[in-house]
Amino acid sequence: RVLVGTKVDENHANWTTAYNMLTGIRVSVSRTNAKLDRPLTDADFDAKQKSTFDIAGNELVPSAKYDFKFKDYAPWVFRHLRALFRLDPADYLMSLTGKYILSELGSPGKSGSFFYFSRDYKYIIKTIHHAEHKFLRKILKDYYNHVTDNPNTLLSQFYGLHRVKMPYGKKIHFVVMNNLFPPHRDIHTTFDLKGSTVGRNYQEENLEKNPRATLKDLNWLRRQRHLELGLQKKQLFLQQLQRDVRLLQKLKIMDYSLLIGIHDLRKGNEENLRDKTLQVFNPGGAGPSEEGFDPSSVLMRTPSKLESARKARELRQMIKAERPIPMEQTSDRMPDELAEGQGRGGVFYNDDGGLRATHDDDEPGEEVYYLGVIDCLTHYGMIKKIEHFWKGLSNDRSQISALPPDEYGERFIKFMSGITMSADEAERDARDREAA
Ligand code: ATP
Ligand code: CA
Ligand code: CA
Repeated sequence: RVLVGTKVDENHANWTTAYNMLTGIRVSVSRTNAKLDRPLTDADFDAKQKSTFDIAGNELVPSAKYDFKFKDYAPWVFRHLRALFRLDPADYLMSLTGKYILSELGSPGKSGSFFYFSRDYKYIIKTIHHAEHKFLRKILKDYYNHVTDNPNTLLSQFYGLHRVKMPYGKKIHFVVMNNLFPPHRDIHTTFDLKGSTVGRNYQEENLEKNPRATLKDLNWLRRQRHLELGLQKKQLFLQQLQRDVRLLQKLKIMDYSLLIGIHDLRKGNEENLRDKTLQVFNPGGAGPSEEGFDPSSVLMRTPSKLESARKARELRQMIKAERPIPMEQTSDRMPDELAEGQGRGGVFYNDDGGLRATHDDDEPGEEVYYLGVIDCLTHYGMIKKIEHFWKGLSNDRSQISALPPDEYGERFIKFMSGITMSADEAERDARDREAA
């Protein structure tokens, strides 16, 4: 079974949902951003703003193609988060809301989430469970404080939390977050690492069919891979990872992964992705049920630089003037300048949007890593206790993935520290082990 990322247009089964998501974002985000900035209050963390869309529209809500309700959660908090992550409000709206908006990635893995990429590939919309949604609201303040104190955090960057309610009552919760992988670089190998070995294997025989599948811990170990960061970046990286994991432990979160995409500079890009093709990656690569997914390409149109600049300027003026932004205004073109460097602060995203491998002698390496901690909304209480019980009956307890959060975090850090080393260190390590 080969599933490809598909462009979501009028003929797509999820077109209406996607349209509603993006229309809701467009209206509510521009509404919040049009106001004068102000400091956050405690109430902002619990706030929610409801809008009702219909074909007629009114003075508050422009008309939409379909009837639906939209909720924007903690709009001011996310406005501040987007600013902390250095996103430009107009660019954010431009990227997310357009006619050839999204590509949908495969269908749910074991979690049931859907993934959509913005057409410029910078953002991911992930539908989430109600429990994850409630949990994110609960921890939002801790998350916000952590991001404020840790400008280099490796945790997923959340830019918005929303809900669409369809006319027949179905509710869809979703987050907008950073895509760790760049629009303009081929990712040659992807790993989703948890620090566990049980069930953490991708059958390498299938790689031929599925050359860009997401590999796991056992594949990493078998290939004797390591993250080569040089002494300084290694220290920075491990320190930040520890601080991030401390937060996750405190919040009783587990099941997260370190996602690593590797661009090999020796291989370069097979084609000029930015001109016509956007690479789509495999979601749900972490569970057992999604191994059939295949990455693929989605065709996109690229606008002229001039036109993009004009659109971005118009959009900024509209936001300033508090005018509702019509759909056409944000449609079908994406600004070129977006593809370049804007947004995503932090030292780990500085080398071409990623982190350049470095040898111990500080010579630059041949790879660029794109990495971060993903899937960090699973509270231990949700489902894992049950899983832990069942798995614990049959496997070595310390090796199963559903450990309590403290142990999960310790194992995670230990694994990541163990793989962050230079080629020399790795060799020495291997020799020592042989000698012992
Ligand atoms: P499960 O709970 O079964 O692991 P999930 O639906 O919660 O799955 P995630 O683990 O969040 O999904 O993500 C699955 C895959 O999607 C990842 O292994 C990765 O390949 C891709 N992915 C997820 N988040 C990102 C991101 N921020 N940037 C790039 N790729 C991502
Ligand atoms: Ca996962
Ligand atoms: Ca998950």
